[in-house]
Amino acid sequence: MNRPRNPAVGAWRELHSALLDLTTPTVCASDAESFTDPAPEYVAYLATLCTGCPVFALCNTFANVNRERDGGIWAGKHRQPRRGRPAAEPKERTAACST
Ligand code: SF4
Repeated sequence: MNRPRNPAVGAWRELHSALLDLTTPTVCASDAESFTDPAPEYVAYLATLCTGCPVFALCNTFANVNRERDGGIWAGKHRQPRRGRPAAEPKERTAACST
């Protein structure tokens, strides 16, 4: 496979491949809506559910490299949009969690 120019693409491929190899879905896959658009009172709780996730490191790398600011939770962190900017569409995230 060719090495992608965009590091986010490479990080995405690694995360997606790892998700496909799982025998049981990640916790966010079973409740993607809560993780992509968390209610403020549940953010801290949902973030703790990432602990022990088998793809935690890859999820964190992808979110950091891609500068995720979709308002969702990635690898135990609430990735809030920058002030004054709307949250990005969570399409990719939903797709990742449902594999
Ligand atoms: S957000 Fe990332 S670390 Fe948390 S459960 Fe989902 S895939 Fe795992």
